[in-house]
Amino acid sequence: MTTKSTVDELNLNTTRAWVDIDLGALLRNGEALAKHARVPLLPMVKADGYGLGVIPVVRALSKLNPFGFGVATVDEGREIRDAGVKDPVIVFTPLLPAELPRLRESKLIPTLSTPSGISAWTECGGGPWHLAIDTGLSRAGIRWDSIAELADLLRHSPPDGAFTHFHSPELDDGSMEIQESRFREAIAALPARPALLHTDSSAAIVRRSPSFWNFVRPGVFLYGVGSGDRAALQPEQVVHLRARVVELHDLHVGESVGYDATWRATRPSRVATLAIGYADGLHKAMGNRAEALVNGRRVPVIGGVMMDMTMIDVTDVRCSVGEHATLIGADGGDVLSVDAVAARADLSPYEVLTGLRQRITRIHR
Ligand SMILES: *Cc1c(COP(=O)(O)O)cnc(C)c1O
Repeated sequence: MTTKSTVDELNLNTTRAWVDIDLGALLRNGEALAKHARVPLLPMVKADGYGLGVIPVVRALSKLNPFGFGVATVDEGREIRDAGVKDPVIVFTPLLPAELPRLRESKLIPTLSTPSGISAWTECGGGPWHLAIDTGLSRAGIRWDSIAELADLLRHSPPDGAFTHFHSPELDDGSMEIQESRFREAIAALPARPALLHTDSSAAIVRRSPSFWNFVRPGVFLYGVGSGDRAALQPEQVVHLRARVVELHDLHVGESVGYDATWRATRPSRVATLAIGYADGLHKAMGNRAEALVNGRRVPVIGGVMMDMTMIDVTDVRCSVGEHATLIGADGGDVLSVDAVAARADLSPYEVLTGLRQRITRIHR
């Protein structure tokens, strides 16, 4: 099914800008990871499913019988519960003790690591929880070499799981191995070994097969971002960002485009105005740097990305008002991967994805 017919079927042919989200590709990316890791997945669906829409993402990934889902906040967990999801949902950020009763009410699982947090959880009734162990990210968790500080509390309120998070799993610099051995050291120092141990985010999953632990926590790979051309597994593209051509302008040599006149025509040029801007989640950093696909051909974004509009140079391609341009994803035989788009603008692919959460229309298919 072509994009155009999808949009027309949904009677969205007046939509100014939209993201096509390929839930089939999402599911296949999950299947590929599960096959590689040979343990269940706990898909990370924080930040509204990395900007793709958490409920359709959760529904699609439920076909993999995941161990559960991972989120960043109590509200994100509640949203999944409200949609009827019964699987375990783990909240992967440190929480204030005052948030714990709401978390418990929705049967979410906290990740704790401080004496006050663990005591507050027990006092509000408790339930399953996972111990966060910091092995080098220095973000959240008890230091791997300080487990003794918690020993008495852990004897009294043992965690159901324990985990750590790698800081550079996409690099072959030995840091993942160091963190892994710190994690093992910490586990050995616990009064009892928890039933559920987990460490691997996308890049770590891709690097080793099978996984060492009970389940894996993929995020970005599911949504179409791999860990480099040489990685053992490559994801399928999930996100296709389109914007409508709403005006065409012919410019003379020397005339400029956009605020601050950051682009100037060096030849007679045809400029298309796209109905998308940074208020739709297109980053400002893409101005004068990103590319777009128009009728399967690559053209440059010229001038800055504005709040509601962005211009492209269509001098060399067929282009008419009402057609769409693709800023991320596939058109014709060509693909602008999230990675490639991010690299051109010096952005992280995570930022590119989670940026797509504002005014833009989402089409899940
Ligand atoms: C976000 C997150 C992940 C997923 O990371 P990706 O690089 O997107 O695969 C895994 N574990 C934790 C604790 C996270 O916060």
